[in-house]
Amino acid sequence: MSELSGPGIAGECDAKSGLHLAEDFFLAEIIDPQTGTPLPPGQSGELVLTTLTREAFPLLRYRTGDITSLDFSPCTCGRTLARMQRVMERVDDVIIVQGIHVVPGQIEKVLKEIEGCEPHYQIVVSRENHRDTLEVHVAVSENIFFDEMKRQRSLLEQIRSVLMRHIGFRVEVKLVERKTLAENLQQSGKIIDKRVL
Ligand SMILES: [Zn+2]
Repeated sequence: MSELSGPGIAGECDAKSGLHLAEDFFLAEIIDPQTGTPLPPGQSGELVLTTLTREAFPLLRYRTGDITSLDFSPCTCGRTLARMQRVMERVDDVIIVQGIHVVPGQIEKVLKEIEGCEPHYQIVVSRENHRDTLEVHVAVSENIFFDEMKRQRSLLEQIRSVLMRHIGFRVEVKLVERKTLAENLQQSGKIIDKRVL
């Protein structure tokens, strides 16, 4: 966002629950990066900024390429400026599976909240019978990996249903030992898209 440099676009307050946007200088919108449609408050999408005070080089609906979301609810610090979530992803990181945008960072956030699994994962996208499939390989701690099948299966089911709720379609989940996943990640990265191979 260096094109917009100046006093700064957003800054964190003591409440540390997002970055307050300098709304008196910028008009911020969140859009669907594929269709350009503005999204309702709270939803994740691409940040688009319009400068309000610049005269020589104003920017109109400048697409930042950053995926974030805006929170318009009042902050405990008393400021009324909208809060922007820290930018975690770039638009380039978003993958489209079955026509739905999947932001890898969202998967990470979901995994962090499930006990027993780690926020490390690998995504494998492929196409079977003209249909996209998404498989998420999740790292689990060793004690779970070698634990009884029943516990493994219930964890698997939990991850699957939570991911499905967040992503919007059925996701295959595979539990992988931490060490194995680290090796796989090093070898082929966080996202393997077999559709383009
Ligand atoms: Zn605040």
